Amino acid sequence: APYQVADVHELLDSTLLMLSGKIGRQIKVVKEYDRTLPRIPAYPAELNQVWTNLIDNAVQAINSVGEEGTLTVRTALEHDRLLVEFKDTGPGVPPDIRGRIFDPFFTTKPVGEGTGLGLDISWRIVVNKHHGTLQVESSPGDTRFQVLLPLTAVDN
Ligand code: ADP
Ligand code: MG
Repeated sequence: APYQVADVHELLDSTLLMLSGKIGRQIKVVKEYDRTLPRIPAYPAELNQVWTNLIDNAVQAINSVGEEGTLTVRTALEHDRLLVEFKDTGPGVPPDIRGRIFDPFFTTKPVGEGTGLGLDISWRIVVNKHHGTLQVESSPGDTRFQVLLPLTAVDN
């Protein structure tokens, strides 16, 4: 199917609404949207899958250290690309596993809680399907998964 021209904020809001039960009241959700950003070429259902995977991870990370925490969803224009950043106040990604978290089936979660496929799938959707990038910056209490998407269509 061809791409559509999508408003990432609409996609983010619908995913956040869908996950509101799982996010729970103890997690504060802060939206820092740059509403001046343009619509971009996208595969909406697949981007929603990316947001779901990254929010799932953020919520699990926050819940692993206690009841309270903040998930910040930020958009911005960065070097001619659209940035969507998910920041959580969880424990962070330990440096020794940082190089492996995007590998298929890599998980640090107990059986039943994690399949280790969320970041692998997200990587393929962002990088292969949208010609974007997916990166992580993490320290304890401040973990940011950053999706950078092209503003205009890229030929395959
Ligand atoms: P799963 O969530 O099923 O374990 P993922 O591919 O989504 O698989 O994530 C792989 C691993 O990356 C997780 O098990 C966890 O160790 C690490 N990780 C992902 N997101 C975060 C985060 N926000 N904070 C800390 N660690 C994370
Ligand atoms: Mg996951």
